[in-house]
Amino acid sequence: MNFSDLELDRHLCEAAMQLGFIEPSAIQQQTIPNILKRRDLLALAPTGSGKTAAYALPIVQLGKRSIVLVPTRELATQVGKVFTQLCRLLNDPAKIVVAIGGLSINPQMMQLRGGADVLIATPGRLLDLAQHNAVRLNEFEIVVLDEADRLLSLGFADELNAIAKQLLKQRQTLMFSATFEDKVKTLAESLLRNPLRLEVLAKGIDKPDITQRAICVDDKRRTQLLAHLIKQGQLVKNIGNATDHPVTSQEPTEQSGEHPWHSVLVFVASKYGASHVAEKLTRQKIKAQAFHGDLSQGARTQALDDFKHRRCDVLVTTDLAARGLDIKDLPVVINYDLPRSANDYTHRIGRTGRAGARGLAINFVMPEQASHFKLIEKRNQFKVERENVAGFEVAGFETLGNV
Ligand code: AMP
Repeated sequence: MNFSDLELDRHLCEAAMQLGFIEPSAIQQQTIPNILKRRDLLALAPTGSGKTAAYALPIVQLGKRSIVLVPTRELATQVGKVFTQLCRLLNDPAKIVVAIGGLSINPQMMQLRGGADVLIATPGRLLDLAQHNAVRLNEFEIVVLDEADRLLSLGFADELNAIAKQLLKQRQTLMFSATFEDKVKTLAESLLRNPLRLEVLAKGIDKPDITQRAICVDDKRRTQLLAHLIKQGQLVKNIGNATDHPVTSQEPTEQSGEHPWHSVLVFVASKYGASHVAEKLTRQKIKAQAFHGDLSQGARTQALDDFKHRRCDVLVTTDLAARGLDIKDLPVVINYDLPRSANDYTHRIGRTGRAGARGLAINFVMPEQASHFKLIEKRNQFKVERENVAGFEVAGFETLGNV
């Protein structure tokens, strides 16, 4: 199937092709015709499934004024970029405004003068703008909730309710979520009208090819192990040689010549931890930066930009970067600290193996977290063999889940 089979404007099809989208992904095939028919939608779409274009293409084609609500500033910027790229070849491109917290509100108010066709916003800032009369929410005919589960887990429920009260009743609402827990269900029931429910579990870009590993390590030796793995450059190529256990999973292909570990995203549990680990790696002459919510917006943008453009090899972050971030060609994700929930795990590892590329996710499993990791495995229905890395062995590691 081609984009042109989806009754999309040829300029939009051409722009999608220029972005390297040869054929529509499963979610795009299913959602685009239905959005064009003005159906409400509840789509259960895994991370990296191509959901942004799945709503952006039909929204631009319909030419209806739209709000896209997203959980994080980074995702807002990214979604804004996708809209801009898709509009590139249109004679009369949509006016796209990204409104996010952490930046001065005045320039955003100025941008909203004369209206916006597509307003991409985080909930708090959208409410601020509405309170300042910079935007009237009842003038928008389409509302998208992107990563609805994340919006709720970040505590935006009150803001979403306040926004919903100001929205047009006769609107089209599109909700995307990676998971469908009760909170999401309740929100969907309150916002959507007779929605089409879609669940996407498909191949190709929809189903990331990610090798998962679990290395046992003691708490105090984790940073050394991290530095060791990165320095050895064995992360993608051949970590198996350094272990006592044979590697059971498929080896990812080397993705970038002599520096297969060129980009490594490391997840830690706290903002302090992110800075601390990044500093320690830097001391070992590894180009690492921290990325977390306490940094100024400027510093966040800079860190992400450095990482995306390979000026920095390792980004150490909290769950802030777990969802929505689209970093092209990210071969390795490391859980230095395990995520709290099985859902978070899916989102974290979903940063690698995107858009058809292969990825590697490594988990550091400390003895005290062995049962927590088992639970994550059980909930997500996978099982990986525990490994010991030479020089970092943990006594009795066989009991950390191998049996
Ligand atoms: P998303 O789920 O919207 O974050 O998209 C995940 C990744 O897939 C992004 O890098 C997109 O550029 C890419 N992508 C989206 N649609 C397609 C497509 N039809 N073919 C190939 N790549 C795509």
